[in-house]
Amino acid sequence: MFTEELRNKIDSYIEENREAVISFLEELVNLEGRHGEKEHLLRTAAFLKRNFDEIGMETVLIEVGEANAPIVTGVFNKDAAEKEIVFTGHYDTVFAAGSAGERPFHIKDGKAYGPGVCDMKGGIAIAFFTVKALQEFGFRNAPVRLFFVGDEEVNHQGGTAIEKIRAYTKDILAAFNMENRYESGQLCIGRKGCYEFLLKVHGIASHPGHAYDEGRNAIEEMSHKVLALQAVTPKEKNRDYSVSVNTIKGGTVTNGIPAYCEATIDVRVKSFAALRTCEFLMREVCEKPYIEGTKTKLIRTDDMIPFETTEGVKAAYEAVKAVNDQIGGTVTGSIAVGGSSDAAYMAAGGTKVVCQCGVSGAYTHNEKEYAVVASLYEAIRLFICTVYQYQLFK
Ligand SMILES: [Zn+2]
Repeated sequence: MFTEELRNKIDSYIEENREAVISFLEELVNLEGRHGEKEHLLRTAAFLKRNFDEIGMETVLIEVGEANAPIVTGVFNKDAAEKEIVFTGHYDTVFAAGSAGERPFHIKDGKAYGPGVCDMKGGIAIAFFTVKALQEFGFRNAPVRLFFVGDEEVNHQGGTAIEKIRAYTKDILAAFNMENRYESGQLCIGRKGCYEFLLKVHGIASHPGHAYDEGRNAIEEMSHKVLALQAVTPKEKNRDYSVSVNTIKGGTVTNGIPAYCEATIDVRVKSFAALRTCEFLMREVCEKPYIEGTKTKLIRTDDMIPFETTEGVKAAYEAVKAVNDQIGGTVTGSIAVGGSSDAAYMAAGGTKVVCQCGVSGAYTHNEKEYAVVASLYEAIRLFICTVYQYQLFK
């Protein structure tokens, strides 16, 4: 339970570690690393392992594919009777090596800057210093795990990290995904799924002068389909799914009726049910030929499943919010957002998970990215208290 004694311990812990949190984050940010730059990512993984080992965690690197950076995971209290509490996230960023040289980690007016400081190295610092505190305070009731992947920003393509995320967050007490919070303070309980499609239209090539009627114009056919596909998107703003045709190419020369046209389509859905409805309607559009003699094929080329607001997600959010309110924390409520995260795989597996538990900040995936320094300490306080009240997740 949250007692006066614990409150005092946390106060002094935060005072004592104020500088250490910043130097940990500084080193982590300046190590850089995005997918494809495995050398940088391996250095980051080694940095994390060294730090986890130093506070007495049992740490391993898990290989997930040749081109992909390994997962770094450490656990302590392994033999405690309760199920695990897991802090998850990623240590890859979207910024190319060299970014830290141009704009290394620095703090100005209470904000920390540097590549990936907000998305989501600040969250790693919070999770690490939460676990370090639990160790020092002698918390022994439940095993606590840190679990960070190195290929989240590319949705783990080409590797096996998704399987590992599912396996390590199955049958646990709760997971906290340490993606960044918005400055408005909400925790995230839902994210849209993102699916990509390729639409191919085959027509018949012909001469537009002397054989106009023999041609079957693939671009014309595609034009009908583009409008019909866009119209699949429900009109209301709070829609369950959307369809957006975002690239198109077709034809080869101005004086020839085109035999081929293709387009790529971005589909966002709030739930698996919404995906089924949306894909059904899209296929209906694609199966209907507007011009006799043309052929159309719709292929799903990529997917990132939705983070559904399951009962488990609601329960996990309620628990963290209750602790937050007890200690007068800065969490203001819950939010569902557009972009995706690994919390989706955990929720789909029935795990009690909340997302955006990390540092507050803005402009992620952008050079103006920053993290609010004070929010690092607030979140460390919140999650120490939350782990102490692990009973709320049962
Ligand atoms: Zn992220």
